[in-house]
Amino acid sequence: MLAQAGLPLGLRFRFLDPSPDATAAGFGELTVGSLGDPEAIRSVALDAAVVTYEWEGVPADGLESAATDAPVRPPLGALALSQDRLDEKQAFARLGIGVAAFAPVDDRASLERAVVSLGLPAVLKTRRGGYDGKGQRVLHDITELDGAWDALGGTPLILEAHVPFRRELSVLAARGLDGDTRCWPLVENLHAHGILRVSRAPAPDPESGSAPELQAAGEAIATTLLDELDYVGVLAVELFDCDGTLLANEIAPRVHNSGHWTIEGAETSQFTQHLLAILGRPLGATSPLGYSAMVNCIGTMPDAAAVDSLPGTHLHDYEKAPRENRKVGHVTLVAKSPDELDTRLEELRAAAPELFTY
Ligand code: AMP
Repeated sequence: MLAQAGLPLGLRFRFLDPSPDATAAGFGELTVGSLGDPEAIRSVALDAAVVTYEWEGVPADGLESAATDAPVRPPLGALALSQDRLDEKQAFARLGIGVAAFAPVDDRASLERAVVSLGLPAVLKTRRGGYDGKGQRVLHDITELDGAWDALGGTPLILEAHVPFRRELSVLAARGLDGDTRCWPLVENLHAHGILRVSRAPAPDPESGSAPELQAAGEAIATTLLDELDYVGVLAVELFDCDGTLLANEIAPRVHNSGHWTIEGAETSQFTQHLLAILGRPLGATSPLGYSAMVNCIGTMPDAAAVDSLPGTHLHDYEKAPRENRKVGHVTLVAKSPDELDTRLEELRAAAPELFTY
């Protein structure tokens, strides 16, 4: 999707991907290799104007040593921070950003201590390597400690208080080389089993509090992080909305699934914006063009004809092999009002009910 946005900007791309089936091959030159292989990174980065990444599992050390000729943006400090949940939460706390109570877990005894200090329910997570709800267990009862400890396969871990949020939000923001910062409207995200299923933007009005205040609070969190990290590019911050108080859960130093709606739903898409930012060009406007929803296609694609025939609907097929829990595409709906968006969602549910079984 980055390359799709870059083609009209006159850009050309080289990609490094461990899979020979990578769909990016349709948009440029694909090198099949390990994301930690310095030689492979060097050959892909050769003569490039800039190097970027769109997965936070990329080994930060390898990228630093390999891509010496071209600048790497977003900065590797942000990548490294996103790779360790403890460092990330400590940074939030240090910067005055609201965060769930947490404690490091380095051995079995410290797990017992953390449970005593935070109470239950709590969420035990691996510090590194977890995504889409993998690498974590919710603990409701002291008898679940052994099972969770065994399932997560050892330290280092982090225990977090379980947050009784009313909904999940994310804020997507971009920072240019000159420090100019733009945020899109807050996005409301519905997850099932740790996987994002539906995003709505702008996030519907909260049940209590005010939408402008919430937007300002989300933008303040994003701006604090962008400035602290001397960030260049698009950053997503996943948030818990606790009756109007925002707690940060994690950052993604890249374009993000909860920003896919911006392709049709905003003045400038997150993909175009990311490219403009990392190339040192002026950023585009982030205003929404209406009310958008993005529905992920998980596992398999819906019948294209059934979706195409609906008004205001945009189907994206990543051409990935169907596999359980794999994100293989998404559908974006754009409407002129929240009510019209509800109608569009109902029409999509009727045409492709499998998108809503979670
Ligand atoms: P994560 O891998 O941290 O993004 O977590 C995946 C999902 O688990 C989140 O989107 C939340 O739905 C849920 N979750 C994670 N941490 C917590 C927490 N401390 N309290 C409540 N729910 C959580």
